[in-house]
Amino acid sequence: MLVEIKNVSKAYETNGNRIQALENINFSVEDNDFICIVGPSGCGKSTLLRIIVGLEKPTSGEVLFKGEVIAPDNPKVSMVFQNFALFPWLTVKENIELALAPMIAGEKEKDKIACKYVRAVGLDGFERVYPRELSGGMKQRVGFARALAVEPVLLCMDEPFSSLDALTSQNLKDELLMLWADKNMPPDAVIMVTHNVEEAVYMANRIIILSPRPGKIVADLKIELDRPRNRKDPEFYRWVDKVYSLIV
Ligand code: ADP
Repeated sequence: MLVEIKNVSKAYETNGNRIQALENINFSVEDNDFICIVGPSGCGKSTLLRIIVGLEKPTSGEVLFKGEVIAPDNPKVSMVFQNFALFPWLTVKENIELALAPMIAGEKEKDKIACKYVRAVGLDGFERVYPRELSGGMKQRVGFARALAVEPVLLCMDEPFSSLDALTSQNLKDELLMLWADKNMPPDAVIMVTHNVEEAVYMANRIIILSPRPGKIVADLKIELDRPRNRKDPEFYRWVDKVYSLIV
């Protein structure tokens, strides 16, 4: 077992008001899981992901990574953000190298790994370019390269496609699935938050559905569709309908 989410609850206190965001979340992540977390807006999806990567602490419960309490600087877990979160004053390669800095000291080694992942996401030739010169899709490719370069065991993604146009987002999803199918490439498991049900059915092996706030697990579905998946397949739509029917 890779990650265990045990009895996780989260409440926020703002101006004396207590907001219960998550209630008693339990599930585990295994090798080869591609999990999508879906649910209505505000149900606590992003909060849950931040807790899983160790960026936020649960009010009660715990997250164990290979049996140990997750630490925020765990290099085996990396994150892709909706708004890319690139440093504008660093080039493509420097953005990736910065993520490698805590674990790799040698400049040559950092350069080699950064270039490998720039190539993997199809950005060869853009190593020395600054983020402002890139389209949204290319910026997110840098986001993926940076997250993969640390060779994470678990890759977490928070709505990574939702600020991209439809065509760019579809291309990027297919490329990410190709990287995922390549057993020589990290990660071992993926957790992705999305509000897009079709996207979840297209990408995931498992879909976890949360209730409206406070988020509780309503269903944990194994998606039994062969890959590559075809959106026009009636079976695909049966899964999409099933997921919709479980979202309140
Ligand atoms: P989702 O990702 O499903 O849209 P979030 O995890 O962003 O939901 O938020 C869940 C709930 O917790 C929301 O009601 C939100 O307002 C609240 N919340 C999230 N982060 C904070 C915070 N830092 N302080 C106070 N409330 C928060």
